[in-house]
Amino acid sequence: MSYDSANIFARILRGEIPCRKVYEDAHVLAFHDIQPQAPVHVLVVPRGAYLSWDDFHAAASDAEQAALSRAIGTVARLTGIDAGGYRVISNCGRNGHQEVPHLHVHVLGGRPMGRMVAKAE
Ligand code: 5GP
Repeated sequence: MSYDSANIFARILRGEIPCRKVYEDAHVLAFHDIQPQAPVHVLVVPRGAYLSWDDFHAAASDAEQAALSRAIGTVARLTGIDAGGYRVISNCGRNGHQEVPHLHVHVLGGRPMGRMVAKAE
């Protein structure tokens, strides 16, 4: 999988497609997932063109890396799921079942999230 600047999150970042914004700063945009898997399901994405965590950690500045990490807690507080707890998921590559080839973090909460992963099929 390689970075494709036509991916849906790149288009959202360029303002070509609307999103329901939760938070933004110079390095990060966070918005509600279009097909929420929980009462709160927010995607946190770096503004830079990164595919995966290994790509991001190799190429992103310290400021970008700090901002992405910080935004997760900010989103939890802004959406009110901080008190009850939440789950943070990031799918990378084929085995990670990543569908959109732009690094992103799912922040899910508002209900008990169940066990961490399903058994392998
Ligand atoms: P992945 O499987 O790559 O980790 O997750 C991609 C996520 O992007 C999915 O949860 C999917 O619902 C979400 N998604 C796909 N297209 C759009 C879109 O156009 N807008 C928003 N807000 N979310 C999207």
